[in-house]
Amino acid sequence: MRARFDYLEPTGLDEACRLLREHGGDAKLLAGGTALVMWMRMGLLSPKFVINLDTVTGLDGIAFDPSDGLRIGAGVKHRDLELCPEVQEHYPLLQETFYKVAQPRIRLMATVGGNLSHGDPLTDPGAAFMALDAEVTLRSSRGERTLSVEDFFVDYYETALEPDEILTSIHVPPPAGPAWSHIKFTPRSEEDFATVGVAVTMTGEGIRCDDARIALNSVGPVIFRARAAEEVLRGREITPSVLEEAGAAAAEASDPIEDVRGSSEYKRELVAVFVRRAVERAAAQLG
Ligand SMILES: Cc1cc2nc3c(=O)[nH]c(=O)nc-3n(C[C@H](O)[C@H](O)[C@H](O)COP(=O)(O)OP(=O)(O)OC[C@H]3O[C@@H](n4cnc5c(N)ncnc54)[C@H](O)[C@@H]3O)c2cc1C
Repeated sequence: MRARFDYLEPTGLDEACRLLREHGGDAKLLAGGTALVMWMRMGLLSPKFVINLDTVTGLDGIAFDPSDGLRIGAGVKHRDLELCPEVQEHYPLLQETFYKVAQPRIRLMATVGGNLSHGDPLTDPGAAFMALDAEVTLRSSRGERTLSVEDFFVDYYETALEPDEILTSIHVPPPAGPAWSHIKFTPRSEEDFATVGVAVTMTGEGIRCDDARIALNSVGPVIFRARAAEEVLRGREITPSVLEEAGAAAAEASDPIEDVRGSSEYKRELVAVFVRRAVERAAAQLG
Protein backbone atom coordinates (compact mmCIF):
# COMPACT_ATOMS: atom_id res chain seq x y z
CA MET A 1 0.00 0.00 0.00
CA ARG A 2 1.27 3.50 -0.84
CA ALA A 3 2.78 4.97 2.32
CA ARG A 4 0.94 8.26 2.02
CA PHE A 5 -2.19 9.48 0.27
CA ASP A 6 -4.49 12.38 0.94
CA TYR A 7 -7.86 11.32 2.27
CA LEU A 8 -10.73 13.62 1.27
CA GLU A 9 -14.26 13.70 2.68
CA PRO A 10 -16.64 15.70 0.49
CA THR A 11 -20.14 16.17 1.89
CA GLY A 12 -22.01 16.93 -1.34
CA LEU A 13 -22.00 15.50 -4.84
CA ASP A 14 -20.89 18.78 -6.44
CA GLU A 15 -17.89 18.88 -4.13
CA ALA A 16 -17.06 15.24 -4.86
CA CYS A 17 -17.24 15.94 -8.61
CA ARG A 18 -15.01 18.99 -8.23
CA LEU A 19 -12.40 17.05 -6.27
CA LEU A 20 -12.46 14.26 -8.82
CA ARG A 21 -12.03 16.74 -11.69
CA GLU A 22 -9.13 18.44 -9.89
CA HIS A 23 -7.27 15.24 -9.09
CA GLY A 24 -8.40 13.11 -12.06
CA GLY A 25 -6.21 10.05 -12.63
CA ASP A 26 -4.40 10.59 -9.29
CA ALA A 27 -7.59 10.00 -7.30
CA LYS A 28 -9.76 6.98 -6.50
CA LEU A 29 -13.27 7.02 -5.10
CA LEU A 30 -13.83 4.98 -1.96
CA ALA A 31 -17.29 3.46 -1.42
CA GLY A 32 -17.47 0.28 0.70
CA GLY A 33 -13.73 -0.26 0.17
CA THR A 34 -14.06 -4.06 -0.17
CA ALA A 35 -12.31 -4.02 -3.54
CA LEU A 36 -10.39 -0.74 -3.48
CA VAL A 37 -8.60 -1.29 -0.17
CA MET A 38 -7.63 -4.83 -1.19
CA TRP A 39 -6.20 -3.58 -4.49
CA MET A 40 -4.28 -0.83 -2.68
CA ARG A 41 -2.90 -3.34 -0.18
CA MET A 42 -1.78 -5.58 -3.05
CA GLY A 43 -0.06 -2.61 -4.68
CA LEU A 44 -2.26 -2.79 -7.78
CA LEU A 45 -3.48 0.76 -7.18
CA SER A 46 -1.65 3.60 -5.46
CA PRO A 47 -3.79 6.72 -5.69
CA LYS A 48 -2.43 10.01 -4.37
CA PHE A 49 -5.94 10.99 -3.29
CA VAL A 50 -8.73 8.84 -1.87
CA ILE A 51 -12.15 10.48 -2.02
CA ASN A 52 -14.67 8.95 0.35
CA LEU A 53 -18.20 8.73 -1.05
CA ASP A 54 -19.69 7.54 2.24
CA THR A 55 -19.77 11.12 3.50
CA VAL A 56 -21.60 12.37 0.39
CA THR A 57 -25.32 12.88 0.98
CA GLY A 58 -27.94 11.76 -1.53
CA LEU A 59 -26.34 8.53 -2.73
CA ASP A 60 -28.07 6.14 -0.37
CA GLY A 61 -31.82 5.84 -1.08
CA ILE A 62 -33.94 3.07 -2.59
CA ALA A 63 -37.24 4.28 -4.08
CA PHE A 64 -39.94 2.24 -5.81
CA ASP A 65 -42.79 3.65 -7.85
CA PRO A 66 -45.01 1.27 -9.88
CA SER A 67 -44.99 3.54 -12.92
CA ASP A 68 -41.31 4.57 -12.74
CA GLY A 69 -39.68 1.43 -11.36
CA LEU A 70 -36.82 1.18 -8.89
CA ARG A 71 -34.20 3.87 -8.22
CA ILE A 72 -31.16 2.78 -6.24
CA GLY A 73 -28.54 5.21 -4.94
CA ALA A 74 -25.00 4.12 -5.79
CA GLY A 75 -24.11 4.14 -2.10
CA VAL A 76 -26.79 1.59 -1.13
CA LYS A 77 -25.22 -1.44 0.52
CA HIS A 78 -25.78 -4.88 -0.96
CA ARG A 79 -27.44 -6.03 2.25
CA ASP A 80 -29.91 -3.11 2.27
CA LEU A 81 -30.99 -3.91 -1.27
CA GLU A 82 -31.38 -7.60 -0.45
CA LEU A 83 -33.55 -6.80 2.59
CA CYS A 84 -35.65 -4.02 1.00
CA PRO A 85 -39.34 -5.11 1.05
CA GLU A 86 -40.13 -3.48 -2.33
CA VAL A 87 -37.18 -5.28 -3.92
CA GLN A 88 -38.29 -8.58 -2.43
CA GLU A 89 -41.84 -8.08 -3.69
CA HIS A 90 -41.29 -6.58 -7.14
CA TYR A 91 -37.72 -7.56 -8.10
CA PRO A 92 -37.09 -11.05 -6.67
CA LEU A 93 -34.30 -11.56 -9.22
CA LEU A 94 -32.36 -8.71 -7.59
CA GLN A 95 -33.05 -9.99 -4.09
CA GLU A 96 -31.87 -13.48 -5.01
CA THR A 97 -28.76 -12.18 -6.78
CA PHE A 98 -27.66 -9.87 -3.98
CA TYR A 99 -28.33 -12.58 -1.40
CA LYS A 100 -25.79 -14.75 -3.24
CA VAL A 101 -22.97 -12.17 -3.24
CA ALA A 102 -20.09 -13.25 -0.98
CA GLN A 103 -21.28 -13.37 2.63
CA PRO A 104 -23.09 -10.93 4.96
CA ARG A 105 -19.93 -9.18 6.20
CA ILE A 106 -19.05 -8.16 2.64
CA ARG A 107 -22.67 -7.36 1.77
CA LEU A 108 -22.93 -5.03 4.78
CA MET A 109 -20.03 -2.94 3.45
CA ALA A 110 -20.05 -3.25 -0.33
CA THR A 111 -22.16 -0.76 -2.28
CA VAL A 112 -24.17 -1.33 -5.45
CA GLY A 113 -22.31 1.48 -7.23
CA GLY A 114 -18.94 0.11 -6.12
CA ASN A 115 -19.80 -3.33 -7.41
CA LEU A 116 -20.70 -2.08 -10.89
CA SER A 117 -17.92 0.53 -11.08
CA HIS A 118 -15.25 -2.05 -10.25
CA GLY A 119 -16.01 -3.65 -13.66
CA ASP A 120 -15.12 -7.14 -12.46
CA PRO A 121 -16.63 -9.73 -14.85
CA LEU A 122 -16.88 -12.23 -11.97
CA THR A 123 -19.39 -10.14 -10.04
CA ASP A 124 -23.09 -11.05 -9.98
CA PRO A 125 -25.29 -7.93 -9.83
CA GLY A 126 -24.42 -6.69 -13.35
CA ALA A 127 -26.06 -9.69 -15.01
CA ALA A 128 -29.27 -9.30 -13.00
CA PHE A 129 -29.41 -5.57 -13.77
CA MET A 130 -28.84 -6.34 -17.46
CA ALA A 131 -31.60 -8.94 -17.53
CA LEU A 132 -33.88 -6.28 -15.99
CA ASP A 133 -32.85 -3.68 -18.61
CA ALA A 134 -31.42 -1.30 -16.00
CA GLU A 135 -29.59 1.96 -16.60
CA VAL A 136 -26.89 3.80 -14.68
CA THR A 137 -26.54 7.55 -14.20
CA LEU A 138 -23.05 9.04 -14.25
CA ARG A 139 -22.30 12.52 -13.00
CA SER A 140 -19.36 14.88 -13.33
CA SER A 141 -18.77 18.63 -13.18
CA ARG A 142 -19.55 18.58 -16.92
CA GLY A 143 -23.08 17.26 -16.40
CA GLU A 144 -24.98 14.00 -16.18
CA ARG A 145 -25.51 11.10 -18.59
CA THR A 146 -27.45 7.88 -18.51
CA LEU A 147 -26.54 4.64 -20.24
CA SER A 148 -27.64 1.03 -20.13
CA VAL A 149 -25.84 -1.35 -17.80
CA GLU A 150 -24.97 -3.32 -20.93
CA ASP A 151 -23.07 -0.34 -22.40
CA PHE A 152 -21.50 0.46 -19.03
CA PHE A 153 -19.23 -2.61 -19.09
CA VAL A 154 -16.50 -2.03 -21.65
CA ASP A 155 -13.73 -4.57 -21.02
CA TYR A 156 -11.96 -6.53 -18.29
CA TYR A 157 -12.13 -4.20 -15.23
CA GLU A 158 -13.00 -1.34 -17.56
CA THR A 159 -16.27 0.59 -17.52
CA ALA A 160 -17.62 3.58 -19.41
CA LEU A 161 -16.80 5.83 -16.43
CA GLU A 162 -14.54 8.75 -17.37
CA PRO A 163 -11.86 9.62 -14.76
CA ASP A 164 -13.97 12.57 -13.53
CA GLU A 165 -17.30 10.70 -13.36
CA ILE A 166 -19.19 9.24 -10.41
CA LEU A 167 -21.88 6.59 -10.76
CA THR A 168 -24.73 8.14 -8.80
CA SER A 169 -27.73 5.84 -9.28
CA ILE A 170 -29.21 2.81 -10.98
CA HIS A 171 -32.70 2.77 -12.49
CA VAL A 172 -34.60 -0.45 -13.06
CA PRO A 173 -37.78 -0.18 -15.17
CA PRO A 174 -41.13 -1.37 -13.76
CA PRO A 175 -41.27 -5.18 -13.60
CA ALA A 176 -42.25 -6.40 -17.09
CA GLY A 177 -43.31 -9.91 -16.16
CA PRO A 178 -43.15 -12.48 -13.40
CA ALA A 179 -40.82 -14.98 -15.08
CA TRP A 180 -37.18 -14.91 -14.00
CA SER A 181 -34.40 -17.16 -12.80
CA HIS A 182 -30.88 -16.90 -11.49
CA ILE A 183 -28.17 -19.54 -11.25
CA LYS A 184 -24.82 -18.97 -9.60
CA PHE A 185 -22.59 -22.02 -9.85
CA THR A 186 -19.99 -22.08 -7.06
CA PRO A 187 -18.62 -25.62 -6.71
CA ARG A 188 -15.73 -24.63 -4.40
CA SER A 189 -17.64 -22.67 -1.74
CA GLU A 190 -20.99 -20.86 -1.62
CA GLU A 191 -19.12 -17.64 -0.83
CA ASP A 192 -16.90 -17.87 -3.89
CA PHE A 193 -17.21 -15.81 -7.04
CA ALA A 194 -19.32 -17.60 -9.65
CA THR A 195 -17.75 -20.12 -12.00
CA VAL A 196 -20.78 -19.31 -14.15
CA GLY A 197 -23.62 -16.87 -13.41
CA VAL A 198 -26.85 -16.68 -15.40
CA ALA A 199 -29.73 -14.21 -15.00
CA VAL A 200 -32.91 -14.59 -17.08
CA THR A 201 -36.13 -12.61 -17.42
CA MET A 202 -38.91 -13.75 -19.74
CA THR A 203 -42.38 -12.81 -20.93
CA GLY A 204 -44.81 -15.14 -22.68
CA GLU A 205 -47.78 -17.38 -22.20
CA GLY A 206 -48.11 -21.08 -21.59
CA ILE A 207 -44.97 -22.56 -23.04
CA ARG A 208 -44.48 -19.80 -25.63
CA CYS A 209 -41.73 -17.27 -24.94
CA ASP A 210 -42.51 -13.81 -26.34
CA ASP A 211 -39.27 -12.25 -25.22
CA ALA A 212 -36.31 -13.09 -23.03
CA ARG A 213 -33.21 -11.41 -21.69
CA ILE A 214 -30.28 -13.61 -20.72
CA ALA A 215 -27.14 -12.17 -19.10
CA LEU A 216 -23.99 -14.00 -18.07
CA ASN A 217 -21.17 -13.26 -15.68
CA SER A 218 -17.79 -14.94 -15.09
CA VAL A 219 -17.53 -16.32 -18.63
CA GLY A 220 -16.02 -13.48 -20.62
CA PRO A 221 -13.99 -10.28 -20.25
CA VAL A 222 -17.24 -8.46 -19.41
CA ILE A 223 -20.67 -9.33 -18.09
CA PHE A 224 -22.74 -9.62 -21.26
CA ARG A 225 -26.12 -10.43 -22.79
CA ALA A 226 -26.36 -13.72 -24.68
CA ARG A 227 -28.29 -12.15 -27.53
CA ALA A 228 -28.07 -15.13 -29.89
CA ALA A 229 -29.60 -17.34 -27.19
CA GLU A 230 -32.36 -14.78 -26.63
CA GLU A 231 -33.05 -14.82 -30.37
CA VAL A 232 -33.43 -18.61 -30.29
CA LEU A 233 -36.22 -18.27 -27.71
CA ARG A 234 -38.12 -15.28 -29.05
CA GLY A 235 -41.61 -16.25 -30.24
CA ARG A 236 -41.01 -19.97 -29.80
CA GLU A 237 -42.37 -22.72 -27.59
CA ILE A 238 -39.90 -23.80 -24.95
CA THR A 239 -39.27 -27.43 -25.88
CA PRO A 240 -36.21 -29.54 -24.99
CA SER A 241 -34.67 -28.95 -28.41
CA VAL A 242 -35.17 -25.16 -28.16
CA LEU A 243 -33.55 -25.22 -24.70
CA GLU A 244 -30.64 -27.17 -26.15
CA GLU A 245 -30.29 -24.65 -28.99
CA ALA A 246 -30.37 -21.67 -26.60
CA GLY A 247 -27.74 -23.25 -24.32
CA ALA A 248 -25.48 -23.94 -27.29
CA ALA A 249 -25.87 -20.36 -28.58
CA ALA A 250 -24.93 -18.94 -25.16
CA ALA A 251 -21.92 -21.26 -24.90
CA GLU A 252 -20.79 -20.13 -28.36
CA ALA A 253 -21.00 -16.47 -27.26
CA SER A 254 -19.03 -16.98 -24.06
CA ASP A 255 -15.27 -16.55 -23.83
CA PRO A 256 -14.20 -17.82 -20.40
CA ILE A 257 -10.61 -17.82 -19.21
CA GLU A 258 -8.93 -20.82 -17.65
CA ASP A 259 -8.36 -20.27 -13.92
CA VAL A 260 -8.68 -22.01 -10.55
CA ARG A 261 -12.38 -22.57 -11.29
CA GLY A 262 -11.73 -24.64 -14.40
CA SER A 263 -10.64 -24.71 -18.02
CA SER A 264 -12.32 -22.56 -20.63
CA GLU A 265 -13.77 -25.68 -22.34
CA TYR A 266 -15.29 -26.85 -19.06
CA LYS A 267 -16.82 -23.44 -18.35
CA ARG A 268 -18.26 -23.25 -21.86
CA GLU A 269 -19.91 -26.63 -21.30
CA LEU A 270 -21.31 -25.28 -18.02
CA VAL A 271 -22.77 -22.26 -19.80
CA ALA A 272 -24.75 -24.56 -22.11
CA VAL A 273 -26.07 -26.55 -19.14
CA PHE A 274 -26.91 -23.60 -16.87
CA VAL A 275 -28.49 -21.44 -19.55
CA ARG A 276 -30.70 -24.41 -20.47
CA ARG A 277 -31.70 -24.87 -16.82
CA ALA A 278 -32.18 -21.16 -16.12
CA VAL A 279 -34.40 -20.70 -19.17
CA GLU A 280 -36.41 -23.80 -18.27
CA ARG A 281 -36.97 -22.47 -14.72
CA ALA A 282 -38.07 -19.06 -15.97
CA ALA A 283 -40.36 -20.61 -18.59
CA ALA A 284 -42.02 -22.75 -15.92
CA GLN A 285 -43.34 -19.53 -14.36
CA LEU A 286 -45.10 -18.28 -17.52
CA GLY A 287 -48.86 -18.08 -16.94
C1 LIG B 1 -14.09 -11.83 -0.04
C2 LIG B 1 -14.91 -11.18 -1.15
C3 LIG B 1 -15.84 -11.95 -1.81
C4 LIG B 1 -16.62 -11.39 -2.84
N1 LIG B 1 -17.56 -12.14 -3.48
C5 LIG B 1 -18.34 -11.58 -4.41
C6 LIG B 1 -19.36 -12.32 -5.06
O1 LIG B 1 -19.59 -13.49 -4.78
N2 LIG B 1 -20.12 -11.69 -6.01
C7 LIG B 1 -19.94 -10.37 -6.33
O2 LIG B 1 -20.68 -9.85 -7.15
N3 LIG B 1 -18.96 -9.65 -5.74
C8 LIG B 1 -18.19 -10.22 -4.80
N4 LIG B 1 -17.21 -9.48 -4.20
C9 LIG B 1 -16.91 -8.18 -4.75
C10 LIG B 1 -17.58 -7.15 -4.00
O3 LIG B 1 -18.90 -7.25 -4.35
C11 LIG B 1 -16.92 -5.86 -4.44
O4 LIG B 1 -15.68 -5.80 -3.79
C12 LIG B 1 -17.81 -4.73 -4.05
O5 LIG B 1 -19.06 -4.84 -4.66
C13 LIG B 1 -17.23 -3.39 -4.35
O6 LIG B 1 -18.07 -2.44 -3.77
P1 LIG B 1 -17.48 -1.38 -2.75
O7 LIG B 1 -18.58 -0.46 -2.38
O8 LIG B 1 -16.76 -2.03 -1.63
O9 LIG B 1 -16.48 -0.63 -3.73
P2 LIG B 1 -15.02 -0.05 -3.47
O10 LIG B 1 -14.08 -1.14 -3.12
O11 LIG B 1 -15.08 1.11 -2.55
O12 LIG B 1 -14.71 0.49 -4.94
C14 LIG B 1 -14.52 -0.41 -6.02
C15 LIG B 1 -14.11 0.41 -7.27
O13 LIG B 1 -15.20 1.16 -7.74
C16 LIG B 1 -14.92 2.58 -7.69
N5 LIG B 1 -16.16 3.21 -7.24
C17 LIG B 1 -16.84 2.91 -6.11
N6 LIG B 1 -18.00 3.58 -6.08
C18 LIG B 1 -18.05 4.33 -7.20
C19 LIG B 1 -19.01 5.22 -7.74
N7 LIG B 1 -20.17 5.49 -7.12
N8 LIG B 1 -18.74 5.83 -8.93
C20 LIG B 1 -17.59 5.55 -9.59
N9 LIG B 1 -16.63 4.71 -9.14
C21 LIG B 1 -16.87 4.11 -7.94
C22 LIG B 1 -13.74 2.72 -6.74
O14 LIG B 1 -12.97 3.86 -7.02
C23 LIG B 1 -13.00 1.42 -7.00
O15 LIG B 1 -12.22 1.54 -8.17
C24 LIG B 1 -16.43 -10.02 -3.18
C25 LIG B 1 -15.46 -9.25 -2.50
C26 LIG B 1 -14.71 -9.82 -1.49
C27 LIG B 1 -13.71 -8.95 -0.77
